[in-house]
Amino acid sequence: ILSIQDLSKTYQSGSRKLTVLDSVNFDISSGETISIVGPSGSGKTTLLGLCAGLDSASTGSVTLNGENLQNLNEDQRARVRNQHVGFIFQNFQLLPTLTALENVMVPLELKKRKDARKKAQELLEKVGLGDRATHYPTQLSGGEQQRVSIARAFANEPKILFADEPTGNLDTETGEMIEKLIFDLNKEEGTTLVLVTHDLELAAKTQRIIHIKGGKIQEEAHA
Ligand code: ATP
Repeated sequence: ILSIQDLSKTYQSGSRKLTVLDSVNFDISSGETISIVGPSGSGKTTLLGLCAGLDSASTGSVTLNGENLQNLNEDQRARVRNQHVGFIFQNFQLLPTLTALENVMVPLELKKRKDARKKAQELLEKVGLGDRATHYPTQLSGGEQQRVSIARAFANEPKILFADEPTGNLDTETGEMIEKLIFDLNKEEGTTLVLVTHDLELAAKTQRIIHIKGGKIQEEAHA
């Protein structure tokens, strides 16, 4: 479902160039679960964003569900994202002027689902927030916002779900709940999971682990 070939990303800040990813290659098959681990600043978030078509590479290619994202413009990449991709951001990225329910409705309305409101309510119930539908993001705790962002990602019925530190900064109980929601989606719907995490216990629960360091990746052989 995802094929990364010779992918490099260089950021330019002033006269300095920073190569964050240096000729990275890997493939992910449909239904697989994989985590990306590595030190802070090693490029995990950058890699996830490139895989999901949120950003474009300096060189190399990302093929997502058969489409080479490098050949697409931003609008076309947005279409691929809306059709196939769920993304859980490190900082949630909820729209502050919309309620929890309305945030979850966004991808459903993009797909012109007539039952958007009902479906969004069901998704909020699934993540245990049925009674918070009318709350705005600022009226929700961090863990609650994270769960709204998960409901929104699930609303897309994605073929592939990208999650950036999905359990970071959460208490153990909320973290475990979120972990279960994500892995259940993989088991029940066959959704491919790509997680970025610092949590090695969480990483060990995925089928594959990719380490990223100094712009290069190395895959750990799994027990
Ligand atoms: P963390 O675990 O701390 O979240 P990370 O592994 O996800 O880190 P990235 O966020 O991908 O790392 O950042 C990798 C490097 O690229 C960092 O050194 C960062 O400062 C730099 N970087 C990220 N985005 C930009 C940008 N837009 N412009 C310039 N440099 C950037």
